[in-house]
Amino acid sequence: MNETQSRDEIAKLAKSIFDRGLTFGSSGNISLRLDDGWLMTPTGSTMGDLDPARISKLDDDGNYLSGDKPTKENFLHMAMYEERPGTGAVVHLHSTHSVAVSCLADVDTKNVLPPITAYYVMKIGTLPLVPYFPPGDLNLAKAVREMAGKHHAVLLANHGPVVAGKSLHDAVYATEELEETARLFLLLKGHNTRFLTDEQVAALKTQLPS
Ligand SMILES: [Zn+2]
Repeated sequence: MNETQSRDEIAKLAKSIFDRGLTFGSSGNISLRLDDGWLMTPTGSTMGDLDPARISKLDDDGNYLSGDKPTKENFLHMAMYEERPGTGAVVHLHSTHSVAVSCLADVDTKNVLPPITAYYVMKIGTLPLVPYFPPGDLNLAKAVREMAGKHHAVLLANHGPVVAGKSLHDAVYATEELEETARLFLLLKGHNTRFLTDEQVAALKTQLPS
């Protein structure tokens, strides 16, 4: 994909995410790695109506270059790219069910969601909870950075998921799988549930993205 196609693809997928109620208002952001820098959704923009030409461009050092100013949450994205070479795109949403799970008091912070389905295990695998920090606190970037080396997906406490992928589609699909699994987890609460066994999970994890 060239830069123009990448801009169009970000706008198309962002609108699809917004139209399906996976993010609201001006929340949520997407970034994509280019040969000479990054594209990032602008601050204050709604994912439902992005102008591809106004998507922010950052140079190879992560400095703002052109378009509207990038999302204030750009540090979440950069932490993923810096700790995970090979990352092609990062998605961060305030998707309802994932946020709900991020607020639960009784979860395993090393791996928030149990292995409910095979697709979740293959697309996310392990999901650590990043402790809560207020918006704009750079300690949040530090905390994400510490986990990003080992995990392509993390859940920010009382906030939402950050998911890296080799491509934009990989990152979007994994984020959607996480949101659906969070929804299933909440639906199953209070029900006696048969989760996948350790052996079943181990067999699936051989198919995880690196
Ligand atoms: Zn956020």
